[in-house]
Amino acid sequence: MLKYRSIIRDMPRTISDLGCVGFVIIFIPLCFVFQLCVVLPVFHEPYSLMFILTWMGGIFVVFQIAGNFLACMLVDTSIRATILVPPPEPQLRKLWRFCSICEVVAPIRSWHCDSCKCCILKRDHHCIFTGNCVGHRNQRYFLLFIVYVIIGCAYCCLYNSVFFWYLRYDIYFNLKTGLSLMCPFLGFFFDMSWNNLYLLIYELSFICLLYALILLLFHMPNILKGSTTHENQTSKYDCGRQQNLEMVLGKSWRWVWLAPFVKSELPHDGIHWETLLRHSSKNR
Ligand SMILES: [Zn+2]
Ligand SMILES: [Zn+2]
Repeated sequence: MLKYRSIIRDMPRTISDLGCVGFVIIFIPLCFVFQLCVVLPVFHEPYSLMFILTWMGGIFVVFQIAGNFLACMLVDTSIRATILVPPPEPQLRKLWRFCSICEVVAPIRSWHCDSCKCCILKRDHHCIFTGNCVGHRNQRYFLLFIVYVIIGCAYCCLYNSVFFWYLRYDIYFNLKTGLSLMCPFLGFFFDMSWNNLYLLIYELSFICLLYALILLLFHMPNILKGSTTHENQTSKYDCGRQQNLEMVLGKSWRWVWLAPFVKSELPHDGIHWETLLRHSSKNR
């Protein structure tokens, strides 16, 4: 059963975490409202079939982004959420390490995070956009968060490009727009207009799309190889592509894209990786 972090104890503490979490919390609703209330009525007649279908699609994507973001932020993937029992065999117990900060003997694949101030099970990395470490229990939400950010931003970039450069060509195709796009915050500083805010959202959705794509391209090979960012694509825990994917998305990996609350039990406890080490394909 999943355990959740304490909102007060585990609030993002570093400046970078606070800034990035704040950005996600402000940008997602802002982009959603702009897209469906400003751009969409220009494309489709309000209350027409296409209008309603696009609205529903937008709500689905935003629900996925927000739900996976919250789950990734709140699911506790640290050693605090579990009872650690080292393996009885001395040669396997030797693989565990002592964390002098947490003052516990921690399992292999766990690493201490200075931002979370705790050891994290199968730690991948600390995600500044959720203010939490990505590890064994919340990697599913992190991965789906990225995937839905890509889908949402790709949709925004496509619709917005047609909106700005074709449907509203007469308003936006000028030097002022060019300057606003080159220096988005400076333009906003001199001219507090809605048009500048729209251009800022347009530009940020491109940046988010690019960044999320880079993240996906970086993390996906690791996930498919059963490794983490720390392990640098080693094959030590490789169980084959489908099982590696199950280790992240759970046994119901085919259905997790439907909603963050779809139950998908993980096939491993995230603690006793030494058993896998003995049975992984490279160690047979
Ligand atoms: Zn620790
Ligand atoms: Zn962390």
